[in-house]
Amino acid sequence: MEDVSPIRFDYHALPSRVLFGAGRRRETPEVARQLGCTLPLIVCTPEQQVLADAIASLFAGSSTHIFSEAAMHTPWDVTSRALMVAREVRADCLIAVGGGSAIGLAKALALRTGLPQIALPTTYAGSEVTPIIGETQDGEKRTRRTLDVLPEAVIYDVELTLTLPARLSATSGLNAIAHAVEALYSVDANPVTSIMAEQGIAALAAALPEILANPASHDARSHAQYGAWLCGTCLGSVGMALHHKVCHVLGGTFDLPHADTHAIMLAHVVAYQAGAAPHAMRRIARALGADDAWTGLQALAARLHVPQSLAEIRMPHEGIGRAAELVLQETYANPRTPDYQSIRAMLERAWRGTAPQPDPL
Ligand code: NAD
Repeated sequence: MEDVSPIRFDYHALPSRVLFGAGRRRETPEVARQLGCTLPLIVCTPEQQVLADAIASLFAGSSTHIFSEAAMHTPWDVTSRALMVAREVRADCLIAVGGGSAIGLAKALALRTGLPQIALPTTYAGSEVTPIIGETQDGEKRTRRTLDVLPEAVIYDVELTLTLPARLSATSGLNAIAHAVEALYSVDANPVTSIMAEQGIAALAAALPEILANPASHDARSHAQYGAWLCGTCLGSVGMALHHKVCHVLGGTFDLPHADTHAIMLAHVVAYQAGAAPHAMRRIARALGADDAWTGLQALAARLHVPQSLAEIRMPHEGIGRAAELVLQETYANPRTPDYQSIRAMLERAWRGTAPQPDPL
């Protein structure tokens, strides 16, 4: 019973309907009808226009419109154009088809119109089950939590993920694992999200290497999508900690790719936290089938052939000190109190790609 602490906790269930299973995208018109929707606006990234067309074709006899300019980090100029289209066509619901970028745009529109949303995710990022929105204006990304952006319905259809390239699947999956890892030592951790976190890590850790070997495997893809749902639910339910702060700083300051940065940093941050969160470490290790959490995460990242160092993704070495300073500003609640020297040393190891080290506290 050491890992569960049912003595005192808060648990917030989020109101969202989840439909999981191959081919279930065909139920989109019925789900829309149940939400009282007859004029949907479908949003996607330019690359996924074909998929959006396919979803639109399911709405035989009713009018649908597609806005295909969604972009990473939900830029305000894209949202304002989409808002004009939504008003012009008198959309009465929003359907996001794609990864976090498409889903982020639908959330931004829902925030300003109150329209209901259906999300059909095609990556493992998890945004579809969170009440979180991050928007970028004048080069600054602001994130906030509000139930107004939580999609009313999510349809997980594994067939929509089969085209996700193996490399993107690996980094997106590690990004999802990061949500679950931090949920296990979150200041809001509770027995329910901890069960989901452990299951989510285990499902993705088993599925991702199989996807790399056989990207068309329905079975591996289904397990990965199931894991992504669990990990996304953790992100939506409890506060994140140092790892998310570090990735936010590195991505925002040096324009590093979001999922790659998560993939590189995760084992290093977990090693950093090790002494302060022993129960979480045991659960992460158990989910990975590893002796300890950080070597298990590093071994998984190596098996998935994701970038192994910040140098590889072109973070400037002279930026390490600045990054350490920024990480210490407006810190997130964290099991270990971070300090400049130890954060700098951790970033140095991550920059070089040397083994993560559990620092003595
Ligand atoms: P993404 O949505 O930007 O997709 C990455 C690329 O992959 C795009 O070019 C997209 O068209 C393509 N793609 C997506 N699915 C595909 C598929 N099945 N087959 C082929 N190509 C496909 O990437 P992402 O990692 O899903 O989302 C990242 C964004 O989501 C960031 O802006 C991040 O901040 C945000 N995010 C938000 C939350 C939240 O809770 N608010 C959570 C996670 C991520």
